[in-house]
Amino acid sequence: MATRHHPVRNVRLFTRNKFWLAFITCLAVILTTSVSAHAKKRRKQRAEPVPVVSTQSKLLAGLPHAMDVLANGLKIYAVKYPSPGVIAYQIPVRVGSRNEVLEGRTGFAHFFEHLMFRGTKKRTGKEFGDLYTRLGVENNAWTWNDMTNYHGTASPRVFEQILEAEADRFMNLSFDEKLFRDEAGAVLGEYNKNIANPENVIEEKLAELAFEKHTYGHTTMGYKSDIVKYGERYGDVWPFFKRHYRPSNTAIVVVGDIDPKRTIQLVKKYFGPWRNPVLTAAALRAESVPPEPVQTEARISSETLDKPAQTRLAIAYKIPPFSSENSDFAVLNAIAEIAFSDISPFVQKYRYEQKWLDSVYAPVIEMIDPGIWTVNLRLSNTGKPHTETLITEVQKTLNALASAAPSSSILTEAKNRLMNERNVGWFSSPDALASRIAWYSTIDPPSLAGFSVLDRVMNSIKTLAPNQIQSFAQTHLVEAKRNIVILRGNE
Ligand SMILES: [Zn+2]
Repeated sequence: MATRHHPVRNVRLFTRNKFWLAFITCLAVILTTSVSAHAKKRRKQRAEPVPVVSTQSKLLAGLPHAMDVLANGLKIYAVKYPSPGVIAYQIPVRVGSRNEVLEGRTGFAHFFEHLMFRGTKKRTGKEFGDLYTRLGVENNAWTWNDMTNYHGTASPRVFEQILEAEADRFMNLSFDEKLFRDEAGAVLGEYNKNIANPENVIEEKLAELAFEKHTYGHTTMGYKSDIVKYGERYGDVWPFFKRHYRPSNTAIVVVGDIDPKRTIQLVKKYFGPWRNPVLTAAALRAESVPPEPVQTEARISSETLDKPAQTRLAIAYKIPPFSSENSDFAVLNAIAEIAFSDISPFVQKYRYEQKWLDSVYAPVIEMIDPGIWTVNLRLSNTGKPHTETLITEVQKTLNALASAAPSSSILTEAKNRLMNERNVGWFSSPDALASRIAWYSTIDPPSLAGFSVLDRVMNSIKTLAPNQIQSFAQTHLVEAKRNIVILRGNE
């Protein structure tokens, strides 16, 4: 099917050129009258209150924008962007492999993403695909630890038809067991293809090593031993749908050639009737995500593939959860920039002078719960005998930041690069902007809903001070919180 997806917890999805964006702060606490009026009238059907920090963003000052929360808890973000004849939309749902707490169900959120293309009471999956082809919609979806995102680009003229079809599948998903089994087979094929890539093997091993209790201990793809049994799990689909695919867990982001207020009205028309199913306290408890105990000792694991491959190192540190209310991720982004960007002394020395490394990649990925930050190294043949030295040198690089704060000129340069990347990346297209709004509004704590998350993220970079770098490195980037996987080919 042309209308499907794939980034399953694929870190390259997050290359900063493509995604990283930027912003400044506007903390006015505004709750629109329509939100509070609805809230009073229909409090019963709302699963949880949805406070809105701000319906406006200073960073989007040049772009008319509006935000609203429906009575059912669905959040709507609409931005007018100068892209005549084009809109981008994203429908992020706050569910991912993090929510796979039940035994034998790893990978279920991703599997479910596939099922969302399999039809409703009103139209089959094929009819859904044909409709989008006819309307000229390019649509797709991806699943990650913390979220599942359905997105597309189209002409604004067909947006109402898209909304009708999207609301239909979010509210009335339906397919028979045969289609369900076919899709289970497709997901197994995808697993087999993915696991042939050593990057995915090392990621699976690293997750297992770093997390003993938390569901971040398995990848979004899940384990093969679970995937092969998906065909028997038809009965599990509907409770999962009910639990996670609910308006209070979902947002709709639209960026492009639109009138923001009119867009909100249109979304209301189709998604307003969506209800939050009632869940018992026991059902909620059964699916609560287990917290990860604090790591107190370094961990290391060595793995060998059953085929020749370059040696890879994943060196990961436990980090706090993301919240746009603090600067932790701004600090970490600056550390990644100073320590492991292409112009850093480490990369200059080991990649370009010694030629021990073919690639260095240390993406900072925001996570809902305490997660990891990973320095990924792929070693050249020349570098292979120096695996231990490289581990030591990575730690030394971070220890240097812990023992002395970077000079303000080094930090200023790093901050400028980070802000420029965000300014360029975020505003490069309606799709890029929509995806950043979808991402941050989903990963940020639900109590902080609103456009101003963008401002807070940018402002936290702008206001970074050298001592914050030092104190973060001292607290988090230490051997006791380190997890290393060494992956070698079989030679
Ligand atoms: Zn897939």
